[in-house]
Parts: sequence; C-alpha cells; structure tokens
Amino acid sequence: MRIVFFGSPGSGKGTQAAELAKAYSLIHVSTGEIFRAKVLDGTRIGKRIGDTIAAGSLVDDITTNYVLFKAIEGLNRFLVDGYPRNIAQARSFDVHLKNIQSELTCALFLDVPMEVAEKRLMLRRSQRYDKIENYRRADDAPAVIHHRFDVYRRETEPLIQYYSDRIIRVDGTGSPAEVTHKIVKALQQWA
Ligand code: AMP
Repeated sequence: MRIVFFGSPGSGKGTQAAELAKAYSLIHVSTGEIFRAKVLDGTRIGKRIGDTIAAGSLVDDITTNYVLFKAIEGLNRFLVDGYPRNIAQARSFDVHLKNIQSELTCALFLDVPMEVAEKRLMLRRSQRYDKIENYRRADDAPAVIHHRFDVYRRETEPLIQYYSDRIIRVDGTGSPAEVTHKIVKALQQWA
C-alpha cells in the first residue's frame, strides 16, 4: 500500500496520517517533519529551509523530491504526508515510482472548509502558546497562516484534479476519532 495524503493547513492531515499509518502498518513519511529536523542540524541548507518554513512558503522542488525519494527508498508500504504540494512534485513522483516499477495505490484528500481549518490553526497556536511560554510554530503566526492558505489554494489544491483517477476524498470535519473512522471506511470501500 502506497498512499499520498494531502489537505489544507489545519486539515488535520498530520494527526490522521499518524493514526492511519499505525492502523495499516505503513511507514509514515512527513516531509514537514523531515524539514523541521533539518532546520535543527544548523547547516546552510537547514537555515534556508527554516526561513522558507517560517515564511509559509514551499521548499524548492529539487530539494523536496530528493529528500522524499531518499526517505521512501526500499519501502513498499508507506504513507506520505504533506507531499506532493504541487503538480510538478506529483509528476516527478509518478515518474520516480514508475522508474522503480512501482505506483501509488491512491491519493487521500482530507477535505475541510477553509473557515474550519483556519479556526483550528488559530486554536492550535493559542494552545501551544499557553503550554510553552513564548513558543509557537513560526508558521502558525496569523500573517503566515494567511500566506500558507494562499500557497495551498494556488499550488496544492490543483492536485485534486491531477489525482482524479485515484483520489479518495474524505470529509475531515468532526472529532479526530470520527475522521479516522471515515478514512478507514473510505479505504475499505476503495480496496
Ligand atoms: P507541514 O508539516 O506538512 O505543514 O509542512 C511544514 C512546511 O514544510 C511547509 O509549510 C513547507 O514550508 C515545508 N514543506 C513540507 N512539505 C513540503 C513539500 N512537499 N514541498 C515543499 N515544501 C514542503
């Protein structure tokens, strides 16, 4: 099983991807997590990636593809969370998988209205702020959230069309447990 998982900022894709990977024994590969780890290594590339994330923009496709292809090397059961983020990455991934005699099983799209996603992000920000004084994900600042949504609409949303022949669209509203249930049901119906 080889799945890509995408949705808007605040759609809950990170949480759901982790649940799903556990339920289906898939390796959970999150490009966001890989990038956040790279920021900590203090290299020049790490610094550049950190600036990009903090601005709410996308890391360039060459770096992203390289990192992702390396992360899934040798894996046959994986769930990729947060990749692809645009059509160019999706095309490169299809070509890469074909080159290694593989292909995607399906593309999961977590569908959440923008207002709900935006509210969730704001809440996440305030909760983090309460928990750890002065800490928040840099890309959760209001102006950056706004930019991340713009980037999502322009770059990532067209993936719905790109994957139209293999997309599973799941309503991402409701509690985390309800959404997990909906995703599992949709996957069972698909298989
Ligand atoms: P995420 O945790 O998936 O929300 O990702 C956090 C940040 O990492 C994004 O806002 C981007 O700056 C960067 N990022 C993650 N995945 C990608 C990707 N596939 N392409 C480009 N940038 C990415």
